Amino acid sequence: MAVNESIGREMYELAGRIFPICRSITGDGVRETFRILDEYIAEDGVRFDITEVPSGTPVLDWTVPKEWAIREAYIEDRQGRKIIDMKDNNLHVLGYSLPVDKWVSLDELKQCVYTQPDQPSVIPYVTSYYKERYGFCMSQEMLDSLEEGEYHLFIDSSLFDGSLTYGEVVIPGETDEELMMTSYTCHPSMANDECSGPVVISALIKYVKSLKKHRYTYRFLLNPETIGSITYLSRNMEHLKKKLVAGVVFSCVGDDRDHTIIHSRYGNTIADRSLTSIIKGKQAHTEYSYLERGSDERQYNAPGIDLPVVSYCRTKHDMFPEYHTSADNMDMISPEGLFGAYETMVQWIDCMEANAKYKMTVLGEPQLGKRGLYPTVAQKTNYDGIMVMRDVIAYSDGTNDLFDISEITGIPPYEMLPVIEQLSANDLIVKCE
Ligand code: ZN
Repeated sequence: MAVNESIGREMYELAGRIFPICRSITGDGVRETFRILDEYIAEDGVRFDITEVPSGTPVLDWTVPKEWAIREAYIEDRQGRKIIDMKDNNLHVLGYSLPVDKWVSLDELKQCVYTQPDQPSVIPYVTSYYKERYGFCMSQEMLDSLEEGEYHLFIDSSLFDGSLTYGEVVIPGETDEELMMTSYTCHPSMANDECSGPVVISALIKYVKSLKKHRYTYRFLLNPETIGSITYLSRNMEHLKKKLVAGVVFSCVGDDRDHTIIHSRYGNTIADRSLTSIIKGKQAHTEYSYLERGSDERQYNAPGIDLPVVSYCRTKHDMFPEYHTSADNMDMISPEGLFGAYETMVQWIDCMEANAKYKMTVLGEPQLGKRGLYPTVAQKTNYDGIMVMRDVIAYSDGTNDLFDISEITGIPPYEMLPVIEQLSANDLIVKCE
């Protein structure tokens, strides 16, 4: 099996293991997810360092919420038939629902059931984190099929003083300057949004562990979206402000349709330049400004926090109809899609590691032929590969880094890496410090 097939398959299988878990912004579903991810990365001698932050802790302008535990949820009719059951799909229960145990009429039932009328066959994903209520979700078709009668609403859940869980892996490099990759662990059974993010992050942890040396320190962070990053920033903002060179939020990275960047607030950081030049090398790619933001880039870019963080998606969340419904299942993602995201981020890591302003050591065009760097037979069909080298040489004047040269020449930066290696090995190019 080719490397890409086996890594893609590994990630897909891992996604399948965390897919069934009923995660929320707090609770045992999150802890169970980390336990499974830990098993995967343990092969490389690492595990997530878990932090539990107690309910009620003030975090920036927010407060860590109560912890939610959910054990059972169903609606049954007078004949004892389960109309819906959380055992079949955990999207059937409203996220953070209060407990309930009562018989109601069809009209009353409708008041606590959420559907997606424009997509009548799917179960929508609905939460109510910050207002206490109970509720269920089902397809519009299911709701329409219910007859007049009495229904038993049953949810066995509790909200209590517990904690919010996040986990991180930090892999020290030659310097304490950091690259951060982060995603979230707060959605129940949806594959692209969200299993794809933690899974690709876990595979990248293994990749960085496999590097013989790297200059950057790598921070891999998984936390509940929004409240988790706010909690994390409330404790780590000063450190990140000092050390973070670039960060990427992963969201919906498992489909095989597109490669997308959502830029930082002003779109002018090295995170923007680097990831843009890498996705531009892909067949399909899309750029959005910060005005189209959606995930945790909102927290890292908030005024006063101002960290160099962008988001990376395969297809952006509001651009696929399966988003936040039961249709975002394991068919939505694929080994190829996950591998496409993994490969893109490996290229990003490699390019960030090699990035520098380079300068030629000779005046005039170097004679490549005498160094074995030029095909000795000159024919126009040989030019493509050699043009990459000649363009890298042409713009290595000490003022451009890899991403600048990519912007000027249209050559993806990862295609320049072997060229730079060859030129360096021949002492034709040096890094400007
Ligand atoms: Zn989401």
